[in-house]
Amino acid sequence: MKIICIGRNYVKHIEELNNERPDEPVIFLKPDTAVLSDKTAFVIPEFSNDIHHEVEILVKINKVGKYIDAKFAHKYYDQIGLGIDFTARDLQAKLKEKGLPWEKAKAFDGSAIIGDFLPKNDFVSTENITFELTKNGESVQQGNTEHMLWKIDEIIAHVSQYFTLKTGDIIFTGTPEGVGKVSPGDVLEGFIENKKVLRLHIK
Ligand code: ZN
Repeated sequence: MKIICIGRNYVKHIEELNNERPDEPVIFLKPDTAVLSDKTAFVIPEFSNDIHHEVEILVKINKVGKYIDAKFAHKYYDQIGLGIDFTARDLQAKLKEKGLPWEKAKAFDGSAIIGDFLPKNDFVSTENITFELTKNGESVQQGNTEHMLWKIDEIIAHVSQYFTLKTGDIIFTGTPEGVGKVSPGDVLEGFIENKKVLRLHIK
């Protein structure tokens, strides 16, 4: 399986990092070795002093597809989940400055936290799903998929022009504002529509 991530998909997050608003989705990949279940603690890697949480809505692909039209994209997934795209912000800043790829800052071991998935049919619309991340019981990020620059079906259409989507692939759809540093001892909890779907200890 592969993990496809969308960057800069929420305006307020673009603004908080002073990034440019893209005119098409920003895409990067994480290898399967990045996957960490929320049942396992996340250990802060030695190469960074500034690991940020980015809570994101996830989509799990359930059949093979290429050049998927946006209007048929809904047929390619039936589960919605929540995850954390851990980012070594200090390393990413250096790479961005030099115009280099982000993988070392974004795709390292354990950087893709995957919580529980819920049936898509539980939601009236995938374009109006609220989600939240708390750190030590305090709310740090709140989002709603209605604020995505590119909605889930548009993301699938765009991504599948470049990468064949396969069963089991997971798309991280971008983070809303409120990203911030994690420290040893922190506990992160993630919610979709007030339902807890993720709980992670930081070491
Ligand atoms: Zn992200």
